[in-house]
Amino acid sequence: MCPDPAHHKDSNSRTARPRRPLRVAATSPSRLLRAGQSGYCRRCGNRIDIYQRPDQQPIALHPAELAARHIPAPCRWHLSGGTAHPHGDGSAWCRIPHQAICPHPASPPQAGPYLEDLRRQLALRTRRLIDTGAFTPAPPTPSRPGAPTSHHIRPAVQLLLNRYLAESPLQDIRCVAQTRQRHRCPHTVLDSRFPAGRWTLLPTGPQRGQLTLPAQLMAVYDLGHLPYAEQLRWRTQRCPAHTATPGAADLALTGWQVFDPLLHAAHIHTRLPHPPTRRHEKA
Ligand SMILES: [Zn+2]
Ligand SMILES: [Zn+2]
Repeated sequence: MCPDPAHHKDSNSRTARPRRPLRVAATSPSRLLRAGQSGYCRRCGNRIDIYQRPDQQPIALHPAELAARHIPAPCRWHLSGGTAHPHGDGSAWCRIPHQAICPHPASPPQAGPYLEDLRRQLALRTRRLIDTGAFTPAPPTPSRPGAPTSHHIRPAVQLLLNRYLAESPLQDIRCVAQTRQRHRCPHTVLDSRFPAGRWTLLPTGPQRGQLTLPAQLMAVYDLGHLPYAEQLRWRTQRCPAHTATPGAADLALTGWQVFDPLLHAAHIHTRLPHPPTRRHEKA
């Protein structure tokens, strides 16, 4: 099974199998086209195909099938019934996670010379896209040298066994309750009189099933050790006073989004943020 010689002119797909036409598999549990949803990596601008994994989480795959003999076994994926599975299917071809060759991962994995070569090709393409103005990388995560401060990032927050992306920095997450004057409550959920969460590094992947390869750690504001009622207060986004008066109506929707490592890649911080500098402590 020799690849189409026409592909040789594009070294990117030297060993890539020609793409097959799109159709929905009759046995597919999802209505996604078999080629998944195409998109572009927010970090490097290269094409990705997004599929569901068996645990329903999304995975970004490199769009081409590659000769499996070049790919380390832990990086091999295959598609079956519209779903991406984290191992080869015994054929000579496989797919790989984009993250294994993304030129702008937070921590480059060591995946062998073949994938390193592929990563270099993608890096050149990213450079071309940036030079021609066709691509602007997602804003870099650190806002200054080293780790960002917790006052400047939209944190991923772990609570009630789920991970969410907050709508704003921690200290700006505002109570959604309506005051008696029919205004939105001006108070924040974060309250120094209540136990705080703690910043910790956790895998970007979900807590169950296969992690996206290669595994990567990210900073998470973890509230999981707090009492249930306190986690619920965060989830319902209420200040302590409005938790004590649960009858008050909400004037806004809570701002939590279920954290998705692909959609929210720009919000993944691989280092713990610095604690905020208080103005009255330092000039
Ligand atoms: Zn990328
Ligand atoms: Zn309130």
